[in-house]
Amino acid sequence: MDVAKALTIAGSDSGGGAGIQADLKTFQELDVFGTSALTAVTAQNTLGVQGVYPLSVDAVKEQIQSVGTDIAPGALKTGMLFSSEIIRTVSDMIQEFQWEKLVVDPVMIAKGGSALLQKEAIKCLKKNLIPLAYCITPNLPEAEEIVGFSITNREQQELAAQSIYKMGAKHVVIKGGHGDGEQATDLLYDGEDFHFFTASRIQTKHTHGTGCTYSAAITAELAKGRPIYDAVSTAKSFIQDAIENQLGIGAGHGPTNHWA
Ligand code: PLP
Repeated sequence: MDVAKALTIAGSDSGGGAGIQADLKTFQELDVFGTSALTAVTAQNTLGVQGVYPLSVDAVKEQIQSVGTDIAPGALKTGMLFSSEIIRTVSDMIQEFQWEKLVVDPVMIAKGGSALLQKEAIKCLKKNLIPLAYCITPNLPEAEEIVGFSITNREQQELAAQSIYKMGAKHVVIKGGHGDGEQATDLLYDGEDFHFFTASRIQTKHTHGTGCTYSAAITAELAKGRPIYDAVSTAKSFIQDAIENQLGIGAGHGPTNHWA
């Protein structure tokens, strides 16, 4: 059986809703064999992040080496990277293996406010990782942090996408979930055209791990060899269904439903 394979380089969420756990569940649901390299362990549940424990650079490097030399992924994603030194290591390894189908989810802050990326590491992300990205998937606050201006309308969302494209990412997806209005519109820019993916906004507090799940779904589809437009389109419906059918787990911001 010829199965598609994907790798996630990200943090662990003990609560199972975000991070590595969300990525592997999403890969599985989309019929892709998932592998992982952990960057950090978080003690976390639906109420928030209680602890963050980054792994050593050597531990991150060795996991990527082990996977890369034996189970070559058709596509990979990065999630929580935490520090400049981890970003540099991950960027070096991606170049060493000449992996091209890289989805960068520029995870910065958890919904509860905990830092998943150190403030000074943003510069390093821009310099080292964005130029390697086949696709980058910032939400509105992350895109604002990357481009340095605020995004409050469609025109600014387009300008931000162009600006991130100029930093070297081949495709830029700026997600509209953190905006307001009836619709959540995500924009895909490929250097020439803007494509829009719209879904009705669901009013719920159970959106923990949506960014991880969405970028994992794009990665899974790319691993199967699907073109970027189709991959984003599938990911958008996948995340919409996952939010709509949330499971009501935990007393806080619960996870989405990967079985949906
Ligand atoms: N914890 C980890 C390990 C993550 O990678 C992420 C993803 O961005 C989060 C937490 C954030 O989850 P939330 O969707 O609640 O912001």
